[in-house]
Amino acid sequence: MTSPATPKYFQTMSPATTTPSTTTPSAPPQPSAPPPTSNNSSETPTTKSNDSPTPNTPKVHPPRKPLLRLELRDLSSPGAFSFLRLLHASTALEDAVHTVLHHLYTALPPHHIPPTRSITLVLEAMEGVAYTKGSSLDADHKSIHLSTDYIAHIPDARKKEEITGVLVHEMVHCWQHNAQGTAPGGLIEGIADWVRLKAGYAPPHWKRVAGGKDKWDSGYERTGFFLEWLEQLYGEDIVRRINNELRGCEYEGAAFWGKCCGKDVEALWEEYRAFLDKDSAGGSGSGALVEEDGQGGNQTAKQSQGGEAEMAKKFDIPDNKVIPVRPRFT
Ligand SMILES: [Zn+2]
Repeated sequence: MTSPATPKYFQTMSPATTTPSTTTPSAPPQPSAPPPTSNNSSETPTTKSNDSPTPNTPKVHPPRKPLLRLELRDLSSPGAFSFLRLLHASTALEDAVHTVLHHLYTALPPHHIPPTRSITLVLEAMEGVAYTKGSSLDADHKSIHLSTDYIAHIPDARKKEEITGVLVHEMVHCWQHNAQGTAPGGLIEGIADWVRLKAGYAPPHWKRVAGGKDKWDSGYERTGFFLEWLEQLYGEDIVRRINNELRGCEYEGAAFWGKCCGKDVEALWEEYRAFLDKDSAGGSGSGALVEEDGQGGNQTAKQSQGGEAEMAKKFDIPDNKVIPVRPRFT
């Protein structure tokens, strides 16, 4: 049971697989050793954008450092094994926190950052990919639930990057504002995927498209790419300002977008559509893949698309790859 202050957000379905992993783990878990990187031939090097936090990037510190915890429901599950083999849980969570704070709160007063006190990553067998919720007793305590079933079915070549990308997406939900629960779910999920995109963890199958049925608040990468496009018009801090405007007030569309962009969001969406149509007609390919993995991205994307239906069926995900995002107030 969650309180109205603790909406439950879901992670988009972002499989990039056709077949379950058949690769035997190359090494036993080594908790004290650095996680395998590009030296492991089965791993695709993570492609990160230049504006991702790096050791040289000033970190944004919350007023109170959150307690980070890990809970393993089944240590023997293949997904938990892969997680521990590929990532250091402590640094992975800490890096995700800094990535999110960097993109959403750089140059903003520290007290604008939500007072998140603890974040527990729970690895457990479940349907879907992941979700985040607040404690029923205190919404400042968050838990990110990540499916070990899902982890087990990500191809080895993408496993580390996909896990990290999902973690970044969910970590956004631990720190973003939501207009006291009144913000459109699609905007909330779009901001989460925008951070994932900016951090360099967009899966190969993500597309910058705006189909006939798509709306500005379709959510996930649809809205994430739209937000990225807004940066060209309103500056690179536009999403930071959008998130900040969702702080401590209720969402009212016309006033909100008028204040953030000086325009109606529907009009902006139509401009974005026209931009994509023009760009596509120009042959730049922007309407196709936007994220290459550097190792045959097109091929990976085809495999990904071929595998989505299978994954959707296995994890009971709707065909449109998006799990309903409306917060649950149960
Ligand atoms: Zn989400």
